[in-house]
Amino acid sequence: MSDVPSRVVLREVGPRDGLQNEDVVPTAAKVELIDALGGTGLVEIEAVSWVHPRAIPQMADAAEVWQAVDQREHVTYSALVPNLVGARRALAAGFTELEVVVSASRTHNLRNLNRTPEESLDQIAEVVAAAHAAGARCQVIVATAFGCPYEGEVDPARVVDHAVRAIADGADSICFGDTTGMGSPPRVRRVVGGLLEREPDVELGLHFHDTRGTGMANLVAGLELGVTRFDASVGGLGGCPYAPGASGNIATEEAVYLLHELGVETGVDLDALLDVAHAASRIVGRELPSRLLKAGPRTRLTPL
Ligand code: ZN
Repeated sequence: MSDVPSRVVLREVGPRDGLQNEDVVPTAAKVELIDALGGTGLVEIEAVSWVHPRAIPQMADAAEVWQAVDQREHVTYSALVPNLVGARRALAAGFTELEVVVSASRTHNLRNLNRTPEESLDQIAEVVAAAHAAGARCQVIVATAFGCPYEGEVDPARVVDHAVRAIADGADSICFGDTTGMGSPPRVRRVVGGLLEREPDVELGLHFHDTRGTGMANLVAGLELGVTRFDASVGGLGGCPYAPGASGNIATEEAVYLLHELGVETGVDLDALLDVAHAASRIVGRELPSRLLKAGPRTRLTPL
């Protein structure tokens, strides 16, 4: 492929989006996972979310995890925060990169966050301001960007409008989240194309779940539109807690494998990452969905 970016940044979201949707694992195992990921060449890791432990018990030890992590200089660690209170805690703990979410679907936002998307966007403006006051950056994630478990279709114009509003309020970057894995290449082209028409200089990331087997096709569709930032979770850990039937993110090692095959650099050592995927499988005590983890890279010639 000649007309795709020569290099992309993969953000590893297994420690947060992944583990948040698995049975609770010990603090030490979370730290082990984050530290191991930091040694693979990945430069962005979503480490924790700063949410109320009653809402998400899997992330109750965010402060302890973050304190124990061997914070590497070349890695940017991010924290997902639900509101200004969470943002202040994450900033006080030293995070320099926050993520905050609004859902493009009104119903999903109401059920998930108990407020309308417009109310969420008002609060997000405050979170962005708080991040900037602390010298940090803030990404606004537009969830259900490619479909909603309650509403079904989500109008791409609404997705784009939310992103444009967030950018006007100071968001440093935007991420479109395919919360329920309803994305497909034509939908990616409509939503991403729609934003790039209005905000050609936006720093944009894409977050796909492989619920319906379209994750990698969606990644390639994004790549062909010039997108250079993608989320993925090691082993394909996790799903999304408020989306019925959601399954894991695209697997980081599968994304690395495909991107390298396409001649796109990631800076990630695939063998090292596969070792971490095995460790992740051990940590959660189950087989993970990644097929590359089962098959091994092309250099493994042993018959399966
Ligand atoms: Zn997700």
